[in-house]
Amino acid sequence: MNEAISRRDFVNGTLVAGAGLLLHGLPNAVPPEDPWTGYGGVGDYALANGNTRDVMSVAHFMRDGGFERGIASAIDTGETYDLVAVGGGISGLAAAVFFQKDKGGRCLVIDNHAIFGGEAKRNEFVVDGQSVVAHQGSAIFLVPKKGGYTDRFYELIGMDRSAFAYQRWGGRAPEMPLGKSPYDEPKNYGFYFGPGFGQRPGVWVMQPWERGLAGAPISDAARTELLRSRTVRDDAPRPQTEGDAISRQLDTITLEEHLMARYGISRDTVRTFLSPVEGGGYGLGPDALSAYCAYAIETQFPEDGDDSLGDQMFPDGNSGFARLMVKTLVPGAIPGPRTVDAVWRNPVRFAALDRRGQPTRIRLQSTVVSVEHEGDPASATHVRVTYVKGDRLFRVRARGVVMAGGSWTTKHIVRDLPATHRDAYEQFYRSPCLMANIAVRNWRFLYKMGMSGCRWFGGLGDYLSVRKMAVVGGQPPEFGPDSPTALTIKVLFAKPGLPIGEQGSRGRAELLGTSFAQYERAFREQMGDMFAPGGFDPRRDIAGIILNRWGHAYVNPQPGFFFGTNGRPAPRDVLRDEPHGRVTFANTDLAGASDHRNSIREADRAVSQLVARM
Ligand SMILES: Cc1cc2nc3c(=O)[nH]c(=O)nc-3n(C[C@H](O)[C@H](O)[C@H](O)COP(=O)(O)OP(=O)(O)OC[C@H]3O[C@@H](n4cnc5c(N)ncnc54)[C@H](O)[C@@H]3O)c2cc1C
Repeated sequence: MNEAISRRDFVNGTLVAGAGLLLHGLPNAVPPEDPWTGYGGVGDYALANGNTRDVMSVAHFMRDGGFERGIASAIDTGETYDLVAVGGGISGLAAAVFFQKDKGGRCLVIDNHAIFGGEAKRNEFVVDGQSVVAHQGSAIFLVPKKGGYTDRFYELIGMDRSAFAYQRWGGRAPEMPLGKSPYDEPKNYGFYFGPGFGQRPGVWVMQPWERGLAGAPISDAARTELLRSRTVRDDAPRPQTEGDAISRQLDTITLEEHLMARYGISRDTVRTFLSPVEGGGYGLGPDALSAYCAYAIETQFPEDGDDSLGDQMFPDGNSGFARLMVKTLVPGAIPGPRTVDAVWRNPVRFAALDRRGQPTRIRLQSTVVSVEHEGDPASATHVRVTYVKGDRLFRVRARGVVMAGGSWTTKHIVRDLPATHRDAYEQFYRSPCLMANIAVRNWRFLYKMGMSGCRWFGGLGDYLSVRKMAVVGGQPPEFGPDSPTALTIKVLFAKPGLPIGEQGSRGRAELLGTSFAQYERAFREQMGDMFAPGGFDPRRDIAGIILNRWGHAYVNPQPGFFFGTNGRPAPRDVLRDEPHGRVTFANTDLAGASDHRNSIREADRAVSQLVARM
């Protein structure tokens, strides 16, 4: 178990990367393997697996006031932009896209990672000579309604299809149904009950729902309640529009209270079996979240989704959209035509991102540490933006700034933020998440066990699913149990029973306090135990592990977050409705639901507010 994983994929990747990839003019050679950041894979994203140690250290130094004394003497680059977007995730990139469409001018997008995309990034391995790709965070999208808001935006950035074709079954073994995303629960599914249930070795229950959880080492009461949570007819009225009476009522109680009432189940069942997965994309125990969280996304985007086609996913998740936006903004940044296939496949020309004279520039590995109006925000004509790159501080000027980096950093950066906005940001909580991509040489061990996806209770993460990939940009058209793949395990840190802020900060302490080697060993042990019946051997079968650490992954709306409490406005509305001089606010967290469409819509609104002012 202690043996280091073979770095064969790593070496292969170096050869691939050496064939012409440039990063800021330097060869994108072997990433220095920091013992905390760990291996980052190959290709465009090799130096940007989640929040790397560099990204995190600079951000925390900024939070702790470490740059204060240097800001006044930052080097003036002499640049003035019409728009600066702080944050190069989907929201910051979308802000630049909207600005260039609605007004046009000189834009700068600043991001602290080695590549754009924020939570919408890719990991890439080379396993036995074959490229294996997975997402670092943001994963799925829904088929947009033709001509609707999302569809029009996708079209604007060159998304040339609304759904993908997926890999066909390959190989001689009889076909097993596969999902298209890590969130799918395929027909061949298993539940695993391990040491937390007194089981050594653990117990597998295959097709648990169909078999009434027969053989699960749980109490009769828990079994009855769990089955009820699956089968209860839920014809209670659902919110129809955000802000209607039902959504407001839901926002007065916790998600835990709601789940208990809806299914007629105990708090214990919710906490042991449903949390944090039923907490949706929020990452905390449902005891800390507003019940409206369970309905926010469907209510915010009623137009999107096609049941017959299901969730859609680029092989690397929503990084596909980030790449399309970059191609739209800086056509030379990715060679080839602006088609999904070319933009997805061709390597980024890093040197082209930040060239003098082009309408939009994208500046990477730069952490913004201060944003401040030149004078009274009510009348100032410019905003000063200071960032650290390498070990030096630089300053640019902007006529308008969109803060798209997220609540947890914006509140530290905008110097002259009024008390109302500061108070609003104090009501935003975000939870951590570790996304582990585990490349396996094949998944025969799962096939032998009769499953392509599973759920477990206790240990690292909660579920995984083998997925067939969208056939995009040269992905192989066939896929079977002998194919290499990446198994994505999402580790959340829900601590039901603790206050909301403490759930997040304790989880972060765990995430930040665990080395790559400790996680690597724990994953190998856990998978070794779970999949032993299928003949799984971590040493033989795991080709590589990439960890993507997101310290502030998900927004965590508490009751009252969406619509306010005691006559006070909702914190998000303070930030949405009241631009601060020439500074406006975006990022998905302003919607209270982590979704790339919210990143886009908030950017659209933030840009419109600035354009109106200009
Ligand atoms: C594990 C996970 C799974 C998800 N799955 C989905 C999904 O399936 N579908 C979906 O639609 N959404 C999903 N999401 C939601 C995701 O948040 C959005 O889709 C979207 O990627 C968020 O984009 P953003 O630009 O709003 O924020 P971010 O992606 O967080 O981008 C903000 C960027 O700004 C940078 N930044 C912050 N502060 C500074 C600073 N001071 N200086 C410079 N740069 C800074 C950040 O490092 C980051 O790169 C998921 C999120 C996570 C964490």
